[in-house]
Amino acid sequence: MNDLMFTHAAFNQALAEKKLIGSKCRNCGKIHLPLKPVCPDCHSDKMEIINLSGKGKLSAFSVIYIAPTAMIQAGYDRKNPYCAGVVQLEEGPSICGQILGVDVLRPETIQVGSQVNATFIERGEGEAKKTFLGFQV
Ligand SMILES: [Zn+2]
Repeated sequence: MNDLMFTHAAFNQALAEKKLIGSKCRNCGKIHLPLKPVCPDCHSDKMEIINLSGKGKLSAFSVIYIAPTAMIQAGYDRKNPYCAGVVQLEEGPSICGQILGVDVLRPETIQVGSQVNATFIERGEGEAKKTFLGFQV
């Protein structure tokens, strides 16, 4: 087994290829995110990388007015807030990402439990280009 398969870098590399991956335990069947080289449930190291569907449900969200640097560079600020949320994927694990397709100026219209689909957001140019995970409602 190669531990490098289960790093954040490997996860980001998959995102750049527009794939959402998770680690699956061959012993107990649990799927984990972030990627785990050893199963936190049964301590088996018989882990494999699987492709996730990217389908899930919004389980929590907040509208962000004071953006971190990367999001300010992407054009978000107090006047142009964005929604960040936690999505529970249909395979089980939860993951954070930007939530798209919602009315951030009317957060009361954003509903926990909404069906979402993963989308891949490219930001930056050339060497600095990076792919971020988002979810479309
Ligand atoms: Zn396990």
